[in-house]
This record gives sequence, structure tokens and C-alpha cells, in this order.
Amino acid sequence: MSDFRIYNFSAGPSMLPLPVLEKAASEMTNCQGSGMSVMEMSHRSKVYDGIIKDTQERLRRVMNIPDNYKVLFLQGGATLQFSAIPLNLMKTGKADYAVTGHFAKSAAKEAKKFGTVSIAATTEETGFDHIPAQSELQLNADADYFYICANNTIYGTEWHYDPETPAGVPVVADMSSNILSKPIDVTKYGVIMAGAQKNMGPAGLTVVIVREDLLGNYRENMPQILDWKLMADKDSMPNTPPTYAIYILGLVLEWIESIGGLTEMQKMNEKKANLLYDYLDSTDFYKSVARPDSRSNMNVTFRTGNEELDAKFVKESIADGMTNLKGHRSVGGMRASIYNAMPLEGVEHLIAFMKKFEQENK
Ligand SMILES: *Cc1c(COP(=O)(O)O)cnc(C)c1O
Repeated sequence: MSDFRIYNFSAGPSMLPLPVLEKAASEMTNCQGSGMSVMEMSHRSKVYDGIIKDTQERLRRVMNIPDNYKVLFLQGGATLQFSAIPLNLMKTGKADYAVTGHFAKSAAKEAKKFGTVSIAATTEETGFDHIPAQSELQLNADADYFYICANNTIYGTEWHYDPETPAGVPVVADMSSNILSKPIDVTKYGVIMAGAQKNMGPAGLTVVIVREDLLGNYRENMPQILDWKLMADKDSMPNTPPTYAIYILGLVLEWIESIGGLTEMQKMNEKKANLLYDYLDSTDFYKSVARPDSRSNMNVTFRTGNEELDAKFVKESIADGMTNLKGHRSVGGMRASIYNAMPLEGVEHLIAFMKKFEQENK
């Protein structure tokens, strides 16, 4: 029982790679000869200083982050960044938002507290089933930034292109649920932010990658902890950072490097997603929720079209060694989150179960 591992399709917090958990376990009571766990260590200690610096260097290497970008390790989740983004970037008080799902909508709503938000595109009328094309984006040349949610965790859609904006308008992207899943050209973005608990590590850590020239516009009389420039100047440590979560991110990055970096990661993720989508397309029993051109490689949403059958599917999948396949309450049906740490065998196991379930219930 002790080595039992379930195929966990949770949207987040989600699976971590087994080698990461094993290494963390081996260092649990004595990390690097310190005689203590990372959780018990001062964030100002020499050992921890090595850990946080190494984690930042690895992230820069793995994501190919240019030197003119700062990497910040913050708390408060992606949700707190919905507030921090306008507070740090609204110089003139205007921003454009693409509303492609629940989290993008929440981010736009929050930004409205601080300035004028203009909706560059929304896909709500069709149930957030797709990503707008570049030609459909209504972008203002005088906006302080253009905001997107790069992967819509709940609806299972993903931007498969880097949007172009009028000169001088930076793109801000919430990559909480697809960061580290594929190589991205960081220079196409002014700010990239992500809660760690989908594809980077445990909950409690939020990563912000911000181009240096965008720092320094933080609003006065606002909580100091939301000021990216302060965080950058203090190496993310004006106070205690989420030390253990940063350490685990370091181990996750070490694992990604060991398998060949993000190019290799992308190949593995595409293989898993294609296997599942090809199967969904081959049968009428299940319907894929997202429009084919906008499908996410991280969150695969599908349903049978019959709510009782969906519930039966979820129930029986648990007995078959899988968990968290129930779709988000706002979409219904099923959702398989197949982040980096989900092995190919997990997806094969799911498809075998889906075939059997189809045979028994059609
Ligand atoms: C999970 C998620 C969020 C919310 O993250 P918290 O860390 O819980 O605040 C925001 N955006 C996306 C895309 C997500 O997947």
C-alpha cells in the first residue's frame, strides 16, 4: 500500500513527478547536511540561499528567460495577481482584456476596480469553447497592457499563438495551467504569471516574470507586498517567501532538465493529448467540449451528453484507480487534467477505461 499511486487527474493542486517526491522525501529530515528539513530552515540561511538562487537560475535556463526580465517568487495565488497586475501596470488607467473563461473574467472584474477595462474579445456566448483569432481582437493603441489567460483550466481551451499588440502595449499572460508545458518565447510577453499548483509545484507559490522596464509604476498608498519593484529589489524576500514550495519548484525544474527540457516536455504532452483527443474524435459516445482549433493540451474536457451517465463514469473511474475526473461545476461532464507529471500510462489507462465504459453503456 505504501507505494500505491493513483492516476490523479486533478486540475490543481495536481500530480507531481514521482522522482521529485522521492527526492523531497530523501531530504525531508536532513537537507544537504544541515540536519533539518527545508521547512525548518531560515530563509536567510546559507543552504536556503543556495536553494532559492538555484531555483531561479534553473527557471531562467529552462524557460530561456532573457536578462532584462525579473523573476519573482510571491504568495497569494494567481488570484492576488489579478489585483497586482493593474496596480503595477496601469499608468494611464486603461487596459484591454480577452475574456476566454472563468479566470480571465475574474481578472477583468478585479482590474475594473482600478481603471477602465475594455473587453478585447469574449467567447462567453458560445460557452467559452474557443480562443478568439488575432483578427477578432479589438486592441487599443493607448492601453497600458493587453491581458490574456493562456490556458483556460475549466473549459479546456488554450491559446496556440502569441497575440500581437499595437506598438508599446505589453501582453500580460496568466499561464497558471500551462507554464512549463512547452517552450514559449518570453520576449512576446511583458508579464507572465502563474500559480504554482498546476504544473510547477505545491500551492502557496506564485511566479511572476516581468520585463524590467514595466517596473516602477506601482500605485502609492497600496499594500507594499503587491509592489513588484519592491519584490524585485529585495530578491522576493522583503519578508518570508514560501520556502518549501520554492524548493519543490527547484526539484521539478531539475526533473524537466533531466528529461530534456521544454522541447521534450512538449513532445510528451502533445503525445498524451493527441491520444486522448484522437480517441474522443473516433467515437460518438463522448463529445469533446472545446472547439478543435482551441483545445488545451493540459485540460481535456468531454461529456457523454447525459448527466446521469457522466456521474456513473466518474464513480466507476474511481474504482478503476483514477481520481478527479469530474468536470468543473460550471461546465459539467468530465475533465482530465494531464499536466507534465501525468505519465503516458495514466492517459492510456483512462482511454482503456473509456472504451470499456462505452461498450457497457451505449
Ligand atoms: C487555478 C487558476 C487560477 C487561480 O489560482 P489561485 O492560485 O488559486 O489563485 C487562476 N488562473 C488560472 C488559469 C488557473 O488555472
